[in-house]
Amino acid sequence: MNQSLETHRRLRARLGLVETIHGHGQIVCSECGNHCRLNNGDVGFCNLRIAKNGIIEERFKEKAIVSYYYDPLPTNCVADWVCPCKTDGLLDSNHRFNNLAVFYGSCNSDCLFCQNASYRDMMAKGRSLMTPHALAEAANERTACVCFFGGDPSCNAAHSIAVSEFLIHHGIKVCYETNGIISRKWLKIMADVVIRSGGTFKIDLKAYSSNIYKALTGVSNTVVLNNFRRLAKIGRGLNHTFLVASILLIPEYVSVDEVQRLCEFIAYCDPTIPTALLGFAPHLAMSDLPRTSRAHAFRAKEVAEEAGLENVRIGNLALLSKADYVFE
Ligand code: SF4
Ligand code: SF4
Ligand code: SF4
Repeated sequence: MNQSLETHRRLRARLGLVETIHGHGQIVCSECGNHCRLNNGDVGFCNLRIAKNGIIEERFKEKAIVSYYYDPLPTNCVADWVCPCKTDGLLDSNHRFNNLAVFYGSCNSDCLFCQNASYRDMMAKGRSLMTPHALAEAANERTACVCFFGGDPSCNAAHSIAVSEFLIHHGIKVCYETNGIISRKWLKIMADVVIRSGGTFKIDLKAYSSNIYKALTGVSNTVVLNNFRRLAKIGRGLNHTFLVASILLIPEYVSVDEVQRLCEFIAYCDPTIPTALLGFAPHLAMSDLPRTSRAHAFRAKEVAEEAGLENVRIGNLALLSKADYVFE
């Protein structure tokens, strides 16, 4: 554990980012589930906020560090097999609808395997900046859904909600793809925009064991698990798929035991929650690991179903390898 925390520190220091979450200051940031405790002059873990004169200030005012692109539907979205656009006939390739993919350039986690690590440079440099209104104007007549990811929308909650309020009026579905480190202050509001638009909340659970989660991400998963429970409760009784879980099968870290713990937790929340098991590709500080093997992925699917989950899917099958490693 100490070694992995040292790796987090070293990688962040190289970019001039705050090395760990401040936990002892007098001023608490309530914008995300990390709840950084800052003293005057301290910058938060996401690099978006600073403590000044006893309060938390936005460093970029109402703007977020963000970029966007259009992804033609159907996309390789993590929730593609339960996508609400399917039932609405929006995935028909003749109509060329698109997803407005919103990539936030900041994150409140620090995954050693991050496959979207370009957010780190954006976060360190603080650009490019956009207001919610300018970003919402990027949607066009072919936009069927918006997906907030990055980086992560959980430390960009107010911005993403403001964008959503513009888009909902144009019938666009709002989806979040997030690590789930969302503050209580924003969780229900985010859930509400997703539900009103008919979109989905996709939570990447990563690991159930707190020590594995912390080694992988540098932060705690307590808030993630609590939020997942709350969202599952909110989702019960809705007539479309609201909550989707994903689990990245990282060799040596997310073994079958860990998958079992996570899936028992998901099943306890609601066994009907669709769950995607995703293949891992070596990246960033974990580039020495192999790609997830087919044997690992198919055994993980068996274990997930044995845990009681009713709708499990192996995503990115093409990525799976024949690598030989221990996963039981
Ligand atoms: S938004 Fe989260 S990570 Fe950023 S300063 Fe606030 S509590 Fe810390
Ligand atoms: S972002 Fe949402 S609506 Fe769009 S493809 Fe993914 S699940 Fe479907
Ligand atoms: S939560 Fe996502 S974007 Fe943030 S560091 Fe982890 S993998 Fe990267």
